[in-house]
Formats: sequence, structure tokens, C-alpha cells
Amino acid sequence: MCGLVLTALLLATTAKAAPTPIRYVLAPVLENGALKALAVDIDFPADADGDTRLKFVSQFQAETRPGRYAEGLTVTGAEAVTPTPDGGAEIRSAPGAPLHAHYRIRPGYASAPTTQDPTQIRPIILSDWFYTLGELVFAFPAGRRDAPAAFAWTGAPEGFGFASDLEQLDPKSATVNDLLESVAIGSPRLRVISGSGPDAGVRIATLGAFDRFADAAFADMAFRTIRTERAFWGDPATPFLVTLAPLQTRLIDAYSGTGRTDAFALWVGTALPLDDLRRLLAHEYFHTWNPDQLGGMGKDRAAAWLSEGFTDFYARRLLLRAGLFSLGDYVQAWNEDLLAYGVSPARDAPEARMAENYWRDHDLEQMAYLRGALLGVLFEGQLRREGHGLDAVMRRMREIKRGKPDSALRPNFEAAFKAVAGRSPLATIERHQVRGERLALPADAFACLTLRMVTQPERVLGFDRDATAETGVFAGVDPSGPAYAAGLRDGMRLIAREGGAPNDSSVEAAFRVADASGQERLIRYRPEGKATVTFQRLSIPPGLTADQERRCVRTLSGLSAISPAPGT
Ligand SMILES: [Zn+2]
Repeated sequence: MCGLVLTALLLATTAKAAPTPIRYVLAPVLENGALKALAVDIDFPADADGDTRLKFVSQFQAETRPGRYAEGLTVTGAEAVTPTPDGGAEIRSAPGAPLHAHYRIRPGYASAPTTQDPTQIRPIILSDWFYTLGELVFAFPAGRRDAPAAFAWTGAPEGFGFASDLEQLDPKSATVNDLLESVAIGSPRLRVISGSGPDAGVRIATLGAFDRFADAAFADMAFRTIRTERAFWGDPATPFLVTLAPLQTRLIDAYSGTGRTDAFALWVGTALPLDDLRRLLAHEYFHTWNPDQLGGMGKDRAAAWLSEGFTDFYARRLLLRAGLFSLGDYVQAWNEDLLAYGVSPARDAPEARMAENYWRDHDLEQMAYLRGALLGVLFEGQLRREGHGLDAVMRRMREIKRGKPDSALRPNFEAAFKAVAGRSPLATIERHQVRGERLALPADAFACLTLRMVTQPERVLGFDRDATAETGVFAGVDPSGPAYAAGLRDGMRLIAREGGAPNDSSVEAAFRVADASGQERLIRYRPEGKATVTFQRLSIPPGLTADQERRCVRTLSGLSAISPAPGT
């Protein structure tokens, strides 16, 4: 009998400790079979004082009013409802009264988004598909982002597919924050590929028709990337969703992506090759750990060389480890960075200037990626010579952060480096990051690969690239430049870019163009200017045997500390 009483008490206590979750329901609004909007219903109790503010997040990426797509808000169970400019409302009701909010999310684009749209994050709601991020869809009672939450998708006709990381919510721990940091995609054309074995729980959801890769190839790449990065950190398999929305290709190939805690949202031009997505996915997925699980970023972007640059370093290392990069791909990726670093007007910028102007100056932002990645190579080379490796430093950073949740990224790197190598990395950081002194990597920085200095003409295209990209019609062709000499004239229409490499004047530029009469022709030329640039270039030593190459790949992947030089 005593036992029974105790059980009843425990139940009562549990029921009191776990408040009813805020319930979200998402549904399609269809007219004559065409999708017009999304309907959102939210059930939540009013605040204890009877004054409840229903709001949207105040900012998301470039969107300063994320609630602008909500319309027709009604609240039942309230005495008075005053709409607010952010898309939410001030609600007056009995204290703790059960409230029900209903509104619609209208389309953020009038027609299918293209690679020329300046932003991809607005709600895509077209006649037969939608693609949305939680921040722009879900309102919430102010002060309750950490409150328990539940989600349901309902009302779709049979055959209308749906995929969201919200289907993966753990009912015991899901919060409003999970709703906000989510992605959802739906369409009668939706295709979902689910991983199995080591990839169980990982799903790919897409509906695009991509010209240059099939679903299976994309899924294989995503599965291998996720599996390899999890193995690097020793993490178990947990549910993860990769969503891939198509952007109609207009003049330029483009893609963008944003990480969610348990998902990844991608917008991809339909003409983009799969290769361009490898680096994006490997980079973005590595952000699952870096920086959040390694240390805090602080209030400015001074540590971006660690959060972004090291993430680039590891994207390449782990693509090589996963077999998604050949040694040639790896060399090419680093050569693009070595060249970009060599020609960047920001290459000598000290840390203070980078931190202050990071978001205002694209060159400074880019320099954090480039310099950080090269510092990763420099440190890895030093550690390898001393019989250690950067991988151990990264894992140690995670342990430090676990033990001290408020600790910051750079101090954690220094502490982890000291713990692994028995010495401080500060002198190198001070010299190249804080003071901005130009980096020249030692010849053996990439183990078995050859590194040498190259001087060549700077790359000059000879026309106004921005104006041309905007209209698709060539403008600002310089009569004394290489494009003019090859026959390019103002007013010619760009049909396709058929050659060229960023920053590299040694690669021929090639444009298929149409002149005023509609006649098509191919314009090809060396995009060489008069000034010169000096940078480091990586190459595979000639005569490398298959066995030497295998060992080389293992070393660069971080899988073995020692790599015999070719020929030994
Ligand atoms: Zn990043």
C-alpha cells in the first residue's frame, strides 16, 4: 500500500514538472490543387500575468523582419489582440488562459527563385512545392524559446511529400528553439533517400532536376561526408536531414546553404556540378562541431580564422579521407587558396582590422578563411614533424569546452595545443594572425607534395565583370586589354562561360557570346594584366608510385603521422 501511494506522488510530481508543450501545426493551403500559402496553428498558454507577446525572431541572417511573411493572424481565447509590426501581436487574456493562434505564411518569391536572387532564405511557396526555414515561419510567446514544443504536419493531400528535421524531434527534449532552427520541404514531387547501415537516420530530400548529377550521386556524397566527419569526432549516428532545393540557373552557377542543428538546408543552381557541392557540404557539416563544441566566438569575428579557416582545412582533409577528393582534387583546392591568399588586398591585414571590418569588407572576411586554413597547414606540419598532429588538438579542444562550457575558442586552441605538443602556438599566432605578417609555408608543409613559389601576371579579364554579370551583356570592355584584343566588344551577349579559373591568369578565359546580329562565337584569351603576383603553388611530384600516393593520402588525411619521402 505504501508503494502505491509513493507511485501516485511521483506521478503527480512529474506531471507538474513537465509543462504542456507549445503545439505547432503546419499545413498546406491549396486552391484548386495549387499551393497558395502555409497555415500555422499554435496552441500555448498565456503568460501568468495575462499579457502575452507573440513574436518572431528579430533578425535572421540578412532578414531584418523575419515575420513579414505572416498574414491574417487571429488569436482565440484572448480578450484583446493588438498586432505588432514584426508580424506578431500583444495578447491580453485571463492569466495562463489556453490560447490558439492561427496565421498564414505567404510566398516570399513571385516565381521560382534563380541563381541571381540576392537571398535564398525567404519562404519559397510555389504552386507545387515549398521550402521554408523555421525562423521565417514560426512565431512564439516572448521569453519561451526554451519551452517544450511539439510539431505536426497535417492536411496535405495524398501523395504530397513532406520532409523536415522536425520529424526527428525528441518529444522529451524538443523546445521552441528547435522549431525556429528547422527546415521543411514539401511537394508531390518530393524525393526522399534514406541511408542504411552506418548511414541509418540520415535522409536526403529534394525535388529539383539537376542537370549535372543524379540523386544517388548526391546522396552518396552526403552520406560519406557525414559518416567521415562523425567518425573523426567519434560521434554516434543520429538523425540528420539534408534538403536540396533547386534554383533556376540565370547566367551564373550559384549555391548557398545554412546549417541547422540536425539538418542542412541547401539552395543549388540546377546547372551546378556536384564537385562544387562537395566542399560546401564538408565545410558546413564540420560547423556542427567548430566552433560551437570547441569554444565560444566572443563578441567579434577575431577568431574566425579558427572557426572558418580550420573548418576549410578539415573539409579538405576529410574529403580526402572519405575518398571524395582525389589527390589531384586536394591539390587543386589548396592551389585556389594559395593563389587567392597571394593576390588578396587583405593579406597583410592585422587581426584588429579584420575583426572590426569583417562584415563590411569581403576581402577581410575572406582573409579569415584563407589565413586560417594556411595556419592549419602550418601547425599541422609543425606538429607532424614533432610526432603529433592537429587532429589531437581539435579533439582536446572539445574536451576542454565540455569541461568549461563558457570557455572561448582561441584560448581553448592554445591550451589544447600546449597539452598535445608541450609548447605554445602563441608566437605563430601573434606573428601571422595578430600582426598579419605574410605566411610562406615551408617546403614540406604538405608532406609528400611539392610546394614552390610562382610569379606570373595578375589576372585581368578586361571588362566590367559586375555590370556584365548583372545584365548578361558585356560592358566596360577595355580597348587596351586582352579581351578586346581577342574580339570582345561592349554589347555582346554572354551565353556561357566555357573556361577560366578564379585569380589565375595562366588559365585561358573563354566566353561563348552572341553579337548584335545574333551570331555566336567563342572568345578565348589569356587574362593577363601588366602587374605580376607571387604566390605558392602545390603539385604532385612526378613519378609518384601508386603506393607512395596511397601513403601520401594517408598522411594528408591525418591517418598516419609519418610519410616517407618519394623514392625511399
Ligand atoms: Zn563556414
